[in-house]
Amino acid sequence: MALNKVWMANHDAKTRPDHAEADGQEVGMDESFDVGGEQLMYPGDPAGSPGNIINCRCTVYYTSVQSLESEDEIGKALTKYSKTIPQLAVTREEYRALLRLKR
Ligand SMILES: [Zn+2]
Repeated sequence: MALNKVWMANHDAKTRPDHAEADGQEVGMDESFDVGGEQLMYPGDPAGSPGNIINCRCTVYYTSVQSLESEDEIGKALTKYSKTIPQLAVTREEYRALLRLKR
């Protein structure tokens, strides 16, 4: 079971340049993103400096490295991470759908 996570920035005038740059960055689920020179496990990770995490509206979505056998397996893999990565979206498509609903 191998999942990667991908940083996804909100693109608008308020988006931090470092975060826009991190958009699309893909790392392993247990690895951290490099955002503006800081190591963040997810958007808003308290390990980052306040200027890098406060009001961050970025999110992450997962992508599977290998093809997963079933949705059940994906669910199991995500359950493991949902507690540690609060912003984890289910899939890129679902996240896009959520963004559309918000507007
Ligand atoms: Zn952000």
